[in-house]
Amino acid sequence: MLLPVSTWQDIDSWLKKSRTILIPIGSMEQHGPNGFIGTDALCPEIIARHAESLAPEDVLVGPTFSVGCAQHHLGFPGTITMRPSTMIAAMVDWTESLMRHGFQRLYWLNGHGGNIATIEAAFSEIHARRSFDLRGADNRPGLTLKRRDWWDFSGVMRLCNELYPVGHGSHATASEVSVTYYGYPDRARYEVEMSPKIAPNGTIGDAVQYRRDFPDGRIGSDPTQSTAEHGERIVKVAAQAVLDEIRRFAA
Ligand SMILES: [Zn+2]
Repeated sequence: MLLPVSTWQDIDSWLKKSRTILIPIGSMEQHGPNGFIGTDALCPEIIARHAESLAPEDVLVGPTFSVGCAQHHLGFPGTITMRPSTMIAAMVDWTESLMRHGFQRLYWLNGHGGNIATIEAAFSEIHARRSFDLRGADNRPGLTLKRRDWWDFSGVMRLCNELYPVGHGSHATASEVSVTYYGYPDRARYEVEMSPKIAPNGTIGDAVQYRRDFPDGRIGSDPTQSTAEHGERIVKVAAQAVLDEIRRFAA
């Protein structure tokens, strides 16, 4: 089921059989000359929707939390970011809204490495709020929060290494661009050329330093290798892994 195109009665019925929801979480930041600004939000969304299409009875996909922590990309037009403190506050509100209806297991499918520290801090904030609040503490329902980075499944990593032994990179990667080309094939930018072919590597600081050290936005990658056909293979492996994991998580 997809929450944004469900009714409240659908969700009411869902809660009679499950307390679990999957929330894609990403970022709105530049992804180099041929990658979409929404890449990090689109990848977990595309994978989550594919998992849902395989087993609509087993997965409820929430709205995509599509803006994250991307201050270091603000040197590039189109990037939108939240401060870590704002993102934590927003994740607390999303979680407590869902908890009010009885959701107890939130599986956040993440698409952005720069979100990891803040997502984990948000989990700590949510648990701390519960720990400080002793109302009904003895018979209060449990809460389990989980973060999964979509590229981190062993089968996905293996496939990406096989598809891109050279120039996979760490930002605007060949694999994430492929996933979005699979999701939006009509918008793929196969004509774009890049120089150097493989982008430089380095460390990340603030927006000015990032733009200076990584002038076209990529880090270590050659996403001219990206294709919709690769993306389809990656999405199928990742979606099956998500489905297997969320079934265990919900049990
Ligand atoms: Zn990305």
